[in-house]
Amino acid sequence: MPSYVTHLESALDGARLDAQRLQTLHKERPLWVRYDLDAVKHHFHKAMLRDRPATMWRYRELLPLADDQDIVSLGENMSPLLECARLGKTLGVPNLWIKDESQLPTGSFKSRGQALAITMARHFGVTRVAVPTAGNAGGAMAAYAARAGLEAYVFMPEDTPVINQYECQLAGARTFLVNGLITDCGRIVREGKERMGWFDLSTLKEPYRIEGKKTMGLELAEQFAWDLPDVILYPTGGGTGLIGMWKAFAELAEIGWLTTDKRPRMVAVQSTGCAPIVTAYDRGERFAEPFANAATIASGLRVPAAVGDFMILDAVRASGGCALAVEEARIRAWMQMAVSQTGIAVCPEAAACVGAAEQLAAVGWIRPDERVVIYNTGAAQKYVEAIAVELPRIDCRRPLDWEKIEK
Ligand SMILES: *Cc1c(COP(=O)(O)O)cnc(C)c1O
Repeated sequence: MPSYVTHLESALDGARLDAQRLQTLHKERPLWVRYDLDAVKHHFHKAMLRDRPATMWRYRELLPLADDQDIVSLGENMSPLLECARLGKTLGVPNLWIKDESQLPTGSFKSRGQALAITMARHFGVTRVAVPTAGNAGGAMAAYAARAGLEAYVFMPEDTPVINQYECQLAGARTFLVNGLITDCGRIVREGKERMGWFDLSTLKEPYRIEGKKTMGLELAEQFAWDLPDVILYPTGGGTGLIGMWKAFAELAEIGWLTTDKRPRMVAVQSTGCAPIVTAYDRGERFAEPFANAATIASGLRVPAAVGDFMILDAVRASGGCALAVEEARIRAWMQMAVSQTGIAVCPEAAACVGAAEQLAAVGWIRPDERVVIYNTGAAQKYVEAIAVELPRIDCRRPLDWEKIEK
C-alpha cells in the first residue's frame, strides 16, 4: 500500500510544498498534510478495521505512512471512552464521557504526536532531535527518540513538573532547565539549529505531530459508531489536539464515514493563568497576542504564544464552539472532584475542562440532552507537586485511635 499523501499545504496561504522531503514552517506558520481522499475513500472501508489491532495505526490510510515504512511504536493503544454518569450529574451534564488519554505510553496523549513525528523524522534521515516543552511533549519525545535510537535534546522551564524532568533524563535525552517560559525554550531550539544540527520537533513546527493527534478524533468517531458527540471540551495549549481532531472530522466526512452532517462544537479550554486563545476569541481576532506572566498548575496549558493560534481559532469558530478560561485557583478542586467521582487519573489540564463543562451547563450553552466529551490528556500521577497533600498519620506502636480513623 502506498502513502495517500499528495502534498503539504501552508495553513496560512495555501501554498503547496513537497511532502517527499522533511519540511518545517512556511512563512513562519504551520503546514497541513494533504491526502488523496478520493483514493482513500475508494480503498479504505470501515470493515477493514475489524481485523486491525486496537492501536492508533489502524487508520494508516489517513496517516502519512507507506507500507514498507518502519513505525516507531511503544504500543499506542486506542484510549478508552469512559461514561461518567456520576460526575456528569454533579456538573449538570448528564451525558458525559471522558476519553482517557492518560493510558497511552508515557502517560499522555503527546505520545500520539511524537510517535508519528519521530517515525517520519527517522524516515527522512534525521539522527538528532530537539524540543521545547511544557512537560509531557518532552517526556514523549525522549521516549520515542530512545525507541528509535535518535539523539534527543529537551529544553523546559525550570518549574516544569519534576516527573517530566526525570522521565526525559531517564530516557537518555540531554535535558536542560531554563529560567523562562516555553517560548524562551523554543528560541534556544531555533537558535541552536545550525550549530547543533538538530531537527526541531516543536509543536506544529513540523507537519506530523498533528497527524498523530488526529487519531484522537478518528478513534472518538469510531467509538461513537461514526455519530460524533455534540460538544468536545479540549484543554488547549499549543492546540495540536484540537486542530488535529477538527481535521480528522473533515477527512472522515470527505471519505463518507460519518453517519450525520453534525460536527461537535469545539471548546478550547484554558486557565485564567494563561489564556491567549480565549483573549483573541473574545476580541474576535484570528491571531493571538502573547499572554503576559503565564502561570498555571496545568503545565500543558502554559503556552503564552502558539504558532497555530489561527488554526485553533478557525476550528473553534467553524464548529460553532467557543473558547473559555476557567479560574486558576479552582483547578485543583475540580481535579479532586473529577478523580474522586470517576476513578480516572484526571490531570489539571482536563480538570480545567471539568470546570468549563460546569460553567457552560449552568448558562445553558450545553443542554442536558447533549453528548459531551472531555479529553483527559494526561495522567494525574505525573503532577506530583499539584497533588501533594499532608496525610493523617497513625502511630501503630500505641493503642489505635479509632475515632480519628472513623472521622
Ligand atoms: C500538551 C498538553 C496539553 C495541550 O495540548 P495541545 O494539543 O498542544 O493544545 C493539554 N494537556 C496536557 C496534559 C498536555 O501535556
